[in-house]
Amino acid sequence: MAKHEFQTEVNQLLNLMIHSLYSNKEIFLRELISNASDALDKLEYLKLTDEKYKELDQPSKIVISFDKEKKRMTISDTGIGMNDEEMVENIGTIAKSGTKHFVESLTGDAKKDSHLIGQFGVGFYSSFMVADRVEVVSRKPLEEKAYRWISDGNGEYEIEEAEKENYGTDITLHMREDAEEFLDAWRIKQIVEKYSNHIPFPIYLVNEEGKEEQINKASALWRLPKNELSDEDYKEFYKQISHDNEDPLLWIHTRAEGTLEYYTLFYIPKKAPIDLFRVDYQPGVKLYVKRVFITDEERELLPTYLRFVRGIIDAEDLPLNVSREILQENIILSTIKKASVKKILRELKNLLEKDREAYEGFFKEMGKALKEGIYSDFENKDAILDLMLFKSSKRDGYVTLKEYKDAMKEGQEKIYYLMGEDENLMRHSPLLEKYKEEDIEVLLFDDEVDAIVMPTVTEYDGVQLENIANVEEESEVSEEVKEKFAPIVAAMKAELKESVKDIRLTARLKESPAVVVFDKNDPDVAMQQILRQMGQEVPTPKPILEINPNHDIFKKLLAKNDETVTRDIAHVVLDEAKMAAGLDLDDIADFNSRLNRLIAQAI
Ligand code: ADP
Ligand code: MG
Repeated sequence: MAKHEFQTEVNQLLNLMIHSLYSNKEIFLRELISNASDALDKLEYLKLTDEKYKELDQPSKIVISFDKEKKRMTISDTGIGMNDEEMVENIGTIAKSGTKHFVESLTGDAKKDSHLIGQFGVGFYSSFMVADRVEVVSRKPLEEKAYRWISDGNGEYEIEEAEKENYGTDITLHMREDAEEFLDAWRIKQIVEKYSNHIPFPIYLVNEEGKEEQINKASALWRLPKNELSDEDYKEFYKQISHDNEDPLLWIHTRAEGTLEYYTLFYIPKKAPIDLFRVDYQPGVKLYVKRVFITDEERELLPTYLRFVRGIIDAEDLPLNVSREILQENIILSTIKKASVKKILRELKNLLEKDREAYEGFFKEMGKALKEGIYSDFENKDAILDLMLFKSSKRDGYVTLKEYKDAMKEGQEKIYYLMGEDENLMRHSPLLEKYKEEDIEVLLFDDEVDAIVMPTVTEYDGVQLENIANVEEESEVSEEVKEKFAPIVAAMKAELKESVKDIRLTARLKESPAVVVFDKNDPDVAMQQILRQMGQEVPTPKPILEINPNHDIFKKLLAKNDETVTRDIAHVVLDEAKMAAGLDLDDIADFNSRLNRLIAQAI
C-alpha cells in the first residue's frame, strides 16, 4: 500500500469543501455522475475509432446503490477507468490552472462558492462534502490490474492493487452523519432527475429487491423535437451541462436538415462565467458527432467573443475519428459555426427588442466580451454594433446606436462620443459643455475596452462617429479675440512649455476656464491606461491646453496684466483641467501653494 500526499491546492480545496461549502451538498452526485458520464463518453469514442476496443461488450451505464445500515453509497460506471498513475494525476492533484484560480476566487460566501464548484472541474472532491471516507476502485478496459484509491480527505490518500471483475470505476462514499439524507431512494431519484436526466447513458438505482431500475431519461435531449420538451427540460439540461445552479437567460435549439444535418442547443447564462476574462477560460460548447461525444476542449466551435455561450453541437456529417487537431479547418464545422453565430446574434437582438430589462442584465454581464466581436468578427460587425448599449450624456440608462441615431437633432451630422474611464468625471467633462448647451447627445465610452474597440468603428448606418476630444475648435474663435489674447497665450506658453504641447483658445467651453485634449496622433487618456495595463511603457504625452477666452479668469487677467499672477494662473488652470480629465498632477504641493497665493490675493 502506497501513501501519497495531496497537492497543496487539493488540500485547500478539500478544507473548503468540508468546512465551508455545505450549503448545496446534493451536487456531489451530479459531479460524480458527470465524471462517470465523461468516462463512458471516452470509452464509446475508443470503441468507435480503435479496433482494439471493438470487442468490449459491457453495456455503457451508471449504477447507483446504497446501504442505509452501513452508511455507504456506490456510484459505478463501465467507462474508461483509471490506473494507479492516473489516480495520482487526476484525483491527487489539480492539473488545471483554472482550478487554482478557482481556489483564489472563492468569496467565503458558502452559497456563492458552491455555485462555482462545478465550473472549475473540482467535481470529484465534492464527494468529501458528504463522505468522510472515499474509495475508488477502478480498472481500465483491456488491462488486468485494478487499483483502489482511499482517502479520508485529511491531506493523504493511499493506492493499492485490487480486484475488479468489470472494467470501469466504482466510487464508494462512506457517508458523514449529517449527510445520511442521501441514503434514500426518493432523494437520489430527485437529484438525478434534477441534474442528470439527460446524460446520454442510463443511470440505474439498485432497489430493495436488488434489481436495477432506470431513473433517468438517458436521451440526447438536443435531438428531441422541440414540442416534446418543456421549459423545465431545457433548464435542467442547462444545469447539467453548465454546472450552473441558476436558470439560463435563454436557449436556442436548432435542427438543421438539408445539405448539412446537425443539431445545436445553445444557452445564454444569466451570470458571466467567472473565468470569462481569463486567458485559460474553459470553453462552454461540447462537440458531438452522431450523438458521440468528441470534445469539450475545442475553443473554436464558436468565436471567442461568444465564449459565455454554453451548449452542444452535434454534427451528423463529420467522421467520428475527425482528428481533434484539424477540427478548426473543417469546412462542415465552420459552416455550422457561421450559421450558429448568426442565430445567436439574432436571438440576442430579439431579446433586446422584446425584453429590455433582461437584455440590459445580459449586457452588464457579458457585454464586454461581446464587444470584442466588433473588431474580431468583421462579417457580423454591424449585427454586433446593434447589440451594444452605451451610456450617454443625456440619459441615465443605456442607449443603442440606433436609438441615438433616431434621436439625433436636425442638422446633427455625426454621432459624438467621449472616451474616458470614470463615468462621473466624464459627465462633468468641460468637453461636454458645448454639446449640453446645444442639446446634443454624446455617448460616454467609459468601458476599458472601448479605447481599443471603438476607434475601429468610424461609421454606424451611414453616420460618422466622432470623438469630441478630437474636434478642432480653434477656427471658431474670431481673429479679433485671438489677437486680443495673444499676449496671455504667449505668456502661458512660455511658462508651461515643459508641460504642454500647445496652448490655444477654444470656443467649445461654456463654464470651464480650460480643458486638456491630446494631439490626434498621441494616445488619449483611456488608451494610455490600456497600454500600461498591457505592460507597455507609455511616456505620458504632453496634453494640449485649450483655454476659454470668455471665462472671467482670462478676461480679468487680460485687464490686470500681472506677471506673477499670470504664471500662477497658468499652472493652476492646467492642473485643474488635468484633474477633470482624470490625469495625475506632476506636483501637488506646487498646485496648492499657487492656489493659496491666488486665494489670498483675491481676499
Ligand atoms: P473534471 O471532471 O472537470 O476533470 P473532476 O474533479 O470531476 O474534474 O475529475 C477529475 C478527473 O478524475 C477527471 O478528469 C477524470 O480524469 C478522473 N475521473 C473522475 N471520475 C472518474 C471516473 N468515474 N472514471 C474515470 N476517470 C474519472
Ligand atoms: Mg467532473
